Amino acid sequence: MDESQKLPLFHESGIYHFNDSNAVFIDPVRVLNRSYNRFTVSPSTYYPRFFQTLTPNPVPITVSSSPTKRKRKKPKRTPKEPPPLNDRELIALQRHQELRPLLLKAHECLLKSNELLDAIRTLRSGSDSYCLKEECEGGEQCFVELGWQSPDLVVTLNVRLCDTDNDSHDRTQNNLEDFSDSPSVQCCEQRILPAFNNLVVNDTEDDAVAEIMNNRYIMPQESCFYMSDLGQIRNLIPAHTDCGFNLIMVDPPWENASAYQKSRYPTLPNRYFLSLPIKQLTHTEGALVALWVTNREKLRSFVEKELFAAWGVSYAASFHWLKVKANGSWISDLDLFHHRPYESLILGYSPGKVKNSDDHSKFKPVKEDRVIMSIPGDYSRKPPIADLLQEYVPGVKPPRCIELFAREIMAGWVAWGNEPLHFQDSRYFVKK
Ligand code: SAM
Repeated sequence: MDESQKLPLFHESGIYHFNDSNAVFIDPVRVLNRSYNRFTVSPSTYYPRFFQTLTPNPVPITVSSSPTKRKRKKPKRTPKEPPPLNDRELIALQRHQELRPLLLKAHECLLKSNELLDAIRTLRSGSDSYCLKEECEGGEQCFVELGWQSPDLVVTLNVRLCDTDNDSHDRTQNNLEDFSDSPSVQCCEQRILPAFNNLVVNDTEDDAVAEIMNNRYIMPQESCFYMSDLGQIRNLIPAHTDCGFNLIMVDPPWENASAYQKSRYPTLPNRYFLSLPIKQLTHTEGALVALWVTNREKLRSFVEKELFAAWGVSYAASFHWLKVKANGSWISDLDLFHHRPYESLILGYSPGKVKNSDDHSKFKPVKEDRVIMSIPGDYSRKPPIADLLQEYVPGVKPPRCIELFAREIMAGWVAWGNEPLHFQDSRYFVKK
């Protein structure tokens, strides 16, 4: 690619390709913004972390101790030897050692690209001047609790039906009015629908605003959400497989020792994921399945030995998400055993129903070990990487895509989970 085009392309698409490398850098805010017409994702709410420490070596603050108080010297302790690694940890270490040179090489590409590093430092600054939340009274909604307490709750979906001359006139003038109170927009429609256990569809080519109690949620064009517990996921199985999905993204609530994680969302034991109806959700022509996993070896071996087999999915490749700070450094030491600065995405193919579909050679081989770098957003929020998968997605174009255990909605996708509206809350958006 022409060197001079790389940065303008990054500003447009949110993806920066390095020359002679399989690595990319992503700005999720720019990628997501391609899904919206009249709203933009607010960079300051997308990136609540990792922008504080912009100086490479922060100077430690020394506090002079009061002359009257003398600290008692602590007896010197001899550092404890770490316990020897068990068999699983040894396998995890070996996996890490194999991946290490690849991650270092990708990171080196980032550190050598001064134009990109300059752009990254400013990713969080954007026009957040008119945050939508200012109009709303409600606090953050906990959908998991709400689903149990008020299963009959409704959502009011405000959609704009047609792209009239009036409409395009509004846009060119950067009209800031929204749906419900805009006198100039003619074709508004309000749809009152069950919020839970129901497919809520924005079938228009424009953003829609969903209201639940006192809160507003922005739905991108041609997108759907189905908010339910795992028990109802079978309602999404299409009556005909040619209405199934070609790309199935899964980010399960893996069990994790972290108390912090426990307070963010409920988790499930591995055996629950074995019964996810991946086969039944697959399109006749097959699907690419993309599964996020953490670095726990127990989990990796569960996926490789049990989960993919139970789903009828054959392994294709692994990609790696390397998390960096705004100054380009890793978010934690690369070799820190329990806090690696990366996570992996395991890709596989789910055969469809067409003749010889068990012959996996019909699917495009996926290039192993792509490295995707980005600055992490909120806790456990994954970067939007669908663009990087498109070339491997089998079947119809544009493909039919679904995200399982979603917390946000992408244009053209179905989002399922017990809180798919979480990051659609108007507090994460700014009006254009
Ligand atoms: N991919 C998401 C993102 O990028 O923000 C993160 C998904 S998070 C790892 C897992 C999600 O699964 C959480 O939203 C959690 O509430 C949801 N979840 C947990 N138990 C569930 C259940 N029984 N049924 C449906 N969703 C569940």
